[in-house]
Amino acid sequence: MDSGQTYYIDVVLPLNLWNSFTYEVTKDEYAFLEKGMRVAVEFGRQKIQTGLVYRKHFNKPLHYDTKPILHIIDHEPIINDHQWALFQFVSNYYLTPLGLVLKAALPSSFMLESETFLSLNNLVLAESSNLSDDEFLIVEALQMHKTMSLKMLQQLLDKKNVFKIAQNLMQKSLVSSLQEVKEKYTPKTETYLQLYDKWQGSAINELFERLGKNAPKQREILLHFFSLQRQGRPVLKKQLVKNAGGSTSAIQSLIKKEIFYETKTTIDRINFEKASKVKKPLSEKQQVVLAQIKQFFLRQKPVLLHGVTASGKTEIYIHLIEETLAAGKQVLFLVPEIALTTQLVQRLTKIFGNQIAVYHSKYSQQARREVWMNVLHHKESARIVLAARSGIFLPFQDLGLIIVDEEHDKSYKQTQPSPRYNARDLAVWLHKYLDTPVLLGSATPSIESYYNARRKRYALIELNERYSGVQLPEIKIVDLKEAQRKKRIKNHFSADVLEEITKTLAKKKQIIVFQNRRGYAPVGQCVDCGHVMECPHCDVSLTLHQQQHKLKCHYCGYQIEAPQVCPACGNPSISYKGIGTEQIQKILQDLFPNVLVDRLDSDTTRRKNGFANIIAKFQNRETDILVGTQMLVKGLDFSHVGLVVVMNADQLLFYPDFRADERSFQMLMQVAGRAGRKKEQGKVFIQTYNPAHPVLKMVLNGDYKQLYEQQIALRKSLSYPPFTKLINFQIKDRNPQKTNEAAEWLYASFANSFPKVLGPSDALVPRIKNRYIKEILIKMTEEPTLSAQKKRILKIFNSFHNITYFKSVTITIDVDPY
Ligand code: ADP
Ligand code: ZN
Repeated sequence: MDSGQTYYIDVVLPLNLWNSFTYEVTKDEYAFLEKGMRVAVEFGRQKIQTGLVYRKHFNKPLHYDTKPILHIIDHEPIINDHQWALFQFVSNYYLTPLGLVLKAALPSSFMLESETFLSLNNLVLAESSNLSDDEFLIVEALQMHKTMSLKMLQQLLDKKNVFKIAQNLMQKSLVSSLQEVKEKYTPKTETYLQLYDKWQGSAINELFERLGKNAPKQREILLHFFSLQRQGRPVLKKQLVKNAGGSTSAIQSLIKKEIFYETKTTIDRINFEKASKVKKPLSEKQQVVLAQIKQFFLRQKPVLLHGVTASGKTEIYIHLIEETLAAGKQVLFLVPEIALTTQLVQRLTKIFGNQIAVYHSKYSQQARREVWMNVLHHKESARIVLAARSGIFLPFQDLGLIIVDEEHDKSYKQTQPSPRYNARDLAVWLHKYLDTPVLLGSATPSIESYYNARRKRYALIELNERYSGVQLPEIKIVDLKEAQRKKRIKNHFSADVLEEITKTLAKKKQIIVFQNRRGYAPVGQCVDCGHVMECPHCDVSLTLHQQQHKLKCHYCGYQIEAPQVCPACGNPSISYKGIGTEQIQKILQDLFPNVLVDRLDSDTTRRKNGFANIIAKFQNRETDILVGTQMLVKGLDFSHVGLVVVMNADQLLFYPDFRADERSFQMLMQVAGRAGRKKEQGKVFIQTYNPAHPVLKMVLNGDYKQLYEQQIALRKSLSYPPFTKLINFQIKDRNPQKTNEAAEWLYASFANSFPKVLGPSDALVPRIKNRYIKEILIKMTEEPTLSAQKKRILKIFNSFHNITYFKSVTITIDVDPY
């Protein structure tokens, strides 16, 4: 007799709690439920929460009485096995409760709670015929009340399974959570027309002849098209309609006949057209690289592709993607920032059509949910997922390839909130777990990855020349000190640079002006002699702490009064300010009133599609000069840039971080990589007060290996990664005294257990929103095992949280800060 048997499930809730929770289920529910399905459960007082089934068992918990679940939301698991393993790894490695990992990994509308508000989407009335009775009741209630929380709906309808009904309605796109409603926007898109490649050359003459006979209107359109194209810019559809006297139907016919195809400039909610181009045949060099990559894939090694900018890495990716798709497998293509993907999406769409899905955290909830489900079901429309870092968490069924483009990029690391994971490192983890081939690509690999390649943990493939042999740009270092002395500086530009800008504009080439955004952490620099204030103990520059007017070392705590007089030359010329992009835009616009100067930074791109629009305009040559921050650095492919100007390299070179040299090299090489990508060699001018800085020499020679050798030696001698593992702790409280005490308490405990603990020191910004912040840094060696060390850290935290006095103190943990 099993009538006494009680059935239990353990549920993980998306909360900051280290344990899972046990609930009771019926025998039928027990039989139906699987790990990875969602259930609605009561948690806390009257609060209902979505949780994920984690384990099924018959063991009554010791310390509390179990409640029954409210209802089951899914009919199939929405998380698969390898994801559970990945999430567990992330939880252990990044010291974050599993619930928070789930919260980060899943689209938030998967995890409704009783406080979630719902509202109706617009089109509901027409659709309401195919609703179930329950769904209809909810729709009706929402028609009356506009927005209602799930809790209210539950009370109103006296329905237990309201979470499930809500989820169904969301699936049918009839309802949205309020969070989604806030996110809604209608992107503006421009449609351009392009000629299919097959009509290049003599084929076009035949076409004209044919159209002349039986479709004169279409022939006329084609003539207008060519006259627009002759102006050197892509042809806007509405412009063509206007020029041709308003005939859209003839244009439609030309599209139908596969003479034109349309492209759009924004990427959100796109309905990709069908593929229109075949991939480009690879050059001999590229073919060799492709073959090597596949060889190493067979030997199950992660591959690091170190290829100079514009060497055709993306073209190689395309070939690999095609082969992976042909084998019926899925592809994950990770990019650092999704804004970058505008161009990439266009490029890939031309070849793979509607098999591409785009996924990132700024995407609407609805779109993200769709991509998640399409990946889960191995749908045609999500065979290739182009994603920012959170794409690593998608429910792939048969993942055949992971590409991590610009693998060195900081954006792969999540900074807030936890888990502070690095998607590149997780890609390598997935490779180990699933045997999925993984390709890390970069023109300037991270020191860590290159080290792994040198140690033979990764295979290394190098591609040293640009496609079709266009030379890397000519780089010139402009000495601002000397220019200052000769009075050849005007508004932060040296006369040489201004001359070059004039020349470049005369040649109808475009210009990029790069000003690093890191001005917000100003370093003190003498504008007469260029001297930069540095820490005597640490080889990093000191950072101005405005409030106290002190210069501080972020690493050892050394500090001095911020001097007004330069200690090197004695002149009272120390400047603590950087100039901003906005100012530079204005200067250039005043100097060159006849050209269009645009700006790309976090101000101008804050609006949705701001980035895409600015990039599209530059790509279409509507703007001549683009001033921007490091957003400009990343893999953009412009064809007509003749000159790149770096306003002040010193802001990069003297940033207070042990990665400053590496980052400077990466940024400067990447910026330079935007110049002269096709046909003609481009030029790069780098302004600096420190022309002798060793990193600039390396940039000048494009010498990554020298940078690597120098950095790896330094890291070894200073015990930085990859020779140690870093964990950074931030201790925060409203009370500065308590913050100090908490930091001291933790420091003492850590120092007992770990040989290398630095701090406590003030954070770069020591107070944010009235909370004081201290930092402690642990350098861990591999002995004893990392997981043992992390267990020890959690133990220390446990004791810490048991101290009532420290209840208000929060601690954030950053494993492998980047
Ligand atoms: P990377 O990704 O290394 O920066 P890209 O793949 O963007 O380089 O290539 C740079 C430019 O050269 C692109 O415009 C690309 O279309 C072109 N290109 C690269 N390889 C080929 C090829 N095999 N055939 C035609 N064009 C190519
Ligand atoms: Zn120091």
